[in-house]
Amino acid sequence: MWSRGPRRPPHHPPHPAAARWAERALALFVLDPVLLKASGTPRVDFLHRCLRSLDAELGGRLVVVEGDPVDVVPRVAARVGASSVHVSADAGPYGRARDAAVAERVELVRVGSPYAVAPGRVTKADGTPYRVFTPFSRAWADHGWHLPVRTDASTVDWMSADLGVELPAGERLPDVRALWEAFRDEKLPDYATRRDRPDLDGTSRFSAFLKWGVVHPRTLLADLGRDAGAKAFRTELAWRDFYADVLWHEPESARRNYNRAFDRMRLDDDRDRFEAWCRGRTGYPFVDAGMRQLLSEGWMHNRVRMVVASFLVKDLHLPWWWGARHFMRHLVDGDLASNQHGWQWAAGTGTDAAPFFRVFNPVTQGEKFDPDGAYVRRYVPELRDVPGKAVHQPRDPIVDHADERREALARYEAVKR
Ligand code: FAD
Repeated sequence: MWSRGPRRPPHHPPHPAAARWAERALALFVLDPVLLKASGTPRVDFLHRCLRSLDAELGGRLVVVEGDPVDVVPRVAARVGASSVHVSADAGPYGRARDAAVAERVELVRVGSPYAVAPGRVTKADGTPYRVFTPFSRAWADHGWHLPVRTDASTVDWMSADLGVELPAGERLPDVRALWEAFRDEKLPDYATRRDRPDLDGTSRFSAFLKWGVVHPRTLLADLGRDAGAKAFRTELAWRDFYADVLWHEPESARRNYNRAFDRMRLDDDRDRFEAWCRGRTGYPFVDAGMRQLLSEGWMHNRVRMVVASFLVKDLHLPWWWGARHFMRHLVDGDLASNQHGWQWAAGTGTDAAPFFRVFNPVTQGEKFDPDGAYVRRYVPELRDVPGKAVHQPRDPIVDHADERREALARYEAVKR
């Protein structure tokens, strides 16, 4: 998505390309039923907010059509006599196949990507992909990235066409640049030390804006200094690019273990325990707070994502992809690359994953990263009267952590043999 005027963050590549290539252009967004089906209400609602804002920036000229892009894009292009169609390149397996099918029917120009460095660009000297984050991030920083593209939607004569669907009425996005500036000035200086604390609200909460292309990572990178907070933030954006790169090279990793040795791991299939985890009723307060934050806000703090994911895999012995699917249904920032690989990291099956034998303890994690228990009390109302860190003690837990940790390690030993 892109924005008008100097105060707003400009970003999505297709629009500047449209401005460079044509005086008249049609702004089209296709709501693909396949992707809508995989997304839950929070993500679809957020998408609608993005589209309403974009439509307003384009003077009400955004055309939104629901249908299979392989049919819709050529049909609309033919209807308005478009000579070419510009899109932001998609790095995921579904998007790549879809765009290839569209390209057979129209002249499709893939412009840029929603990443600082396009997936597939950063490779080892021998041309093979990186499989470990730290060397990737060094090579990524050495490779560098372009400055953000400047855009001005008013230089394009946006065509209006009576082709699309009405977006449901509702809210638009807040002023994203103002949010960024507030984060940069007030929270970024302490980001390195506070980012792991879910009780402190010390992160940017920009993941959904990045996911939906409301802001381009290069815009954020261009605004970062050299202090510790900026450095830590740059590293997080490198993780985002890394996981997109992993998915680009190995599309199957969205669905199955990146480390295939784990295919031998014995897993359980207890639906009741899974339901308890989904609803935030495991009896482990830090886990339950995270799962309830997900259900109520469509977002969860990164530290807690790691803890609840570890709990699903190592305490409940359930497949990581069950949890990944639940996350994708509820997260407003649900993103195939970051989500599936975040899960594989936590499950120990991914690239430079947390080693399987390092099992998060949901009680001590809570005591360390939510030391006064404020985060738990915010999301688990029945514990509001429990003072301080005592709130992290399990209550009617569905499993015993110490027993399940032993069980997880035994299953891991069996995989190694
Ligand atoms: P900040 O701390 O402000 O970070 C800035 C940006 O860096 C984020 O907005 C995000 O784009 C990127 N980033 C930060 N951490 C990571 C990371 N570990 N991996 C990749 N990118 C990162 N992130 C998603 O955007 N979508 C997902 O579907 C998703 N699923 C996850 C699932 C699991 C199991 C785990 C452990 C992590 C997942 N993450 C996902 C990564 C991370 O939790 C979120 O990006 C982060 O919590 C978003 O909050 P923020 O914008 O305040 O982050």
